Amino acid sequence: MAGSRLTAGDAKGWATMVGIDGPVGEALWTRADRVLPGGGVYLSRSADSAGRGTLPGFIRAAEGCRVTDVDGRTYLDFLCANGPNLLGYRHPEVEEAARRQAAEMTSASLFPEALVDIVEVLVDRFDGMDWGLVSKNGSEVVALGVRVARQHRQRPLAVCFTKAYHGNDPELAPAPAEGVATARTRDVLRVPWNDARALADTAEEHGDQIAAIVLNPVDQNPFEPTVSASSEFLATIERVRQHHGALLLLDDVRHGFRMHPLGSHRALGLQPDLIALGKGLGNGYSISALLGSEKLRTAAQANLFTSTYMFETPPMRAALTTLAVYDRDDAFAALTSAGERLRDGLLDAAAATGHAIDWSGPVAVPMMRFENDPGGARQITFARHAAERGAIFHPVLNWFLSAAHTDADIDEAIDIAAEAFRLTPTES
Ligand code: PMP
Repeated sequence: MAGSRLTAGDAKGWATMVGIDGPVGEALWTRADRVLPGGGVYLSRSADSAGRGTLPGFIRAAEGCRVTDVDGRTYLDFLCANGPNLLGYRHPEVEEAARRQAAEMTSASLFPEALVDIVEVLVDRFDGMDWGLVSKNGSEVVALGVRVARQHRQRPLAVCFTKAYHGNDPELAPAPAEGVATARTRDVLRVPWNDARALADTAEEHGDQIAAIVLNPVDQNPFEPTVSASSEFLATIERVRQHHGALLLLDDVRHGFRMHPLGSHRALGLQPDLIALGKGLGNGYSISALLGSEKLRTAAQANLFTSTYMFETPPMRAALTTLAVYDRDDAFAALTSAGERLRDGLLDAAAATGHAIDWSGPVAVPMMRFENDPGGARQITFARHAAERGAIFHPVLNWFLSAAHTDADIDEAIDIAAEAFRLTPTES
């Protein structure tokens, strides 16, 4: 298994196990290792991020809340394509809307009608938002949001929180981005999450230069328990806006539609000036959106922001249908109750097998960490045993629930997890 940094066999408790991939998957890894660079490139979708061999490397099909790997093994999936799977993979109505649109056009010379349809629906849905635009990925719209804020305030700085991920724009990357000119990153100030004092001090020092605070609704990072915003921290953000004129850009790319149906800020009690959406919006079709308040319309106009496939039409129809089905079927209630059932079942199963678990994060975007698990060895062992039995519980990243996870699916996953907990050592 060339190219892996950490293998499932490194985890204590099953050093003799081989990787989860079957012969077709193994052969694909051999080919992949020859032509893909590996490492950080593609990391969020690479099974290497879980320790190679822990999760299946290659997926061939997906339906509802299950994915099937290239060797034909099917898994209950709690990664949800890292967010997009909101209603269920290949939701029939979403697929039909996209297919019908594709039969007429995919991408053509000028604006498609669906562009107005989707932006209209988004602007009407999110209070205080008066204009919008769509793109393909979350990274682009968060980065554009920062540009719009700077343009409007005529100030250079953005405040982000220390580890917060906002996509692959190097300026907003949480770690020093390799190969990026320092001139591109020095206008982003990083403040520790929930550190109201540090935020207030930063505002005191740089307040007249800060265009925007870029905020994820929770601090949710790989390997770590998720941390909610304290009320003092939220109050300080609001004070910095009032006293220093900083705009608030909510990055709701990951948590959108899973914390609150009308925007995660509703769960925080804040009203942003700009909202970035992505992931679940298209239920698997590539679409993201930036929404803004009226006062920022002129600033938005000042930016050149365009690219060839931004105007691809089936994702717009997919998003329109996703939102309609989400509301009609109360998908938010479904994915919330699925998250609650999973949490309760896994915590019971962990306790019954002597594991101390730290469960955190929004109920439909949970993070499970074993306590006292330096290096995450038990986390990987658990994930590998669960995968062996047919469930994908990513050992590093947060999980996602979808509206397609039924009670029966969750109960099946709990049974699998109970066995995986039993097989995982209680001490590292
Ligand atoms: N913001 C957040 C909070 C995200 O989680 C992500 C993706 N994981 C992004 C932005 C970037 O979105 P995309 O990967 O679609 O470019």
